[in-house]
Amino acid sequence: LASRAFHPQDTLVQVGEHVIGGGTPVIIAGPCSVESQEQIIEAAHLVKQAGGQLLRGGAFKPRTSPYSFQGLGEEGLKYLALAREATGLPVVTEIMDAELLPMMESYVDVLQIGARNMQNYTLLKAVGRSDKPVLLKRGLSATIEEWLMAAEYVLAGGNPNVILCERGIRTFETYTRNTLDLNAVPVVQYLSHLPVVVDPSHGVGNWRYVNAMARAGIAAGASGLIVEVHQNPQEAMSDGDQSLTVENFSQLVQDVRRISTAL
Ligand code: PEP
Ligand code: MN
Repeated sequence: LASRAFHPQDTLVQVGEHVIGGGTPVIIAGPCSVESQEQIIEAAHLVKQAGGQLLRGGAFKPRTSPYSFQGLGEEGLKYLALAREATGLPVVTEIMDAELLPMMESYVDVLQIGARNMQNYTLLKAVGRSDKPVLLKRGLSATIEEWLMAAEYVLAGGNPNVILCERGIRTFETYTRNTLDLNAVPVVQYLSHLPVVVDPSHGVGNWRYVNAMARAGIAAGASGLIVEVHQNPQEAMSDGDQSLTVENFSQLVQDVRRISTAL
């Protein structure tokens, strides 16, 4: 079902008034984690002012250490819903547990499957039964074939609205957190009709390199970006090193628009 041979025309995923997969790149931005009601509502206003279209923010966080901040849980989802109410920005957030699907659906617009859960087949089957679009991140060490098979689970469950997200893969390189595999953009567009967006934040892991790889992602033909932005990156409860300041995010939006109109 994910294959272009089966479905030649591009899939367009509608989120609120935005279309992911059409000509105009859609920019999803916000903090790694929802930290408080004030923080996420302010972040939503700043993302909107800077030119972002969707708000991201994790309420259930898949942290490497069990002692790191795990997210605010359902309380965080409530704050995301308030941020949407305040700004009109649709909300993207990660689901980690299939059992929480009905609860999560009541708050969010797009369900994110994190890299660590790309092959959690129970979770993929669950979101396959949802009517919410799914942003499916590529696994840390997943081949393109495995990633598309993960998408296949969601499509086979009856949910046609899958957005693929390249977020960097594990290589021997240590200067960057991951290696953003921009090869995946044209490859996936050749193999599949599903839209693909790029996450330069997790792809590089350092805010200094995010703008360059965001521009590169759009130049490669991605349908959008998902970018981490924080009012005060140094104080962020997760992924501060890769989070852009609002000023740098605003610059990124302008740079990306210039590239996409030149294409
Ligand atoms: C995130 O988006 O904050 C996140 C945890 O991403 P990934 O699953 O790509 O590591
Ligand atoms: Mn993050």
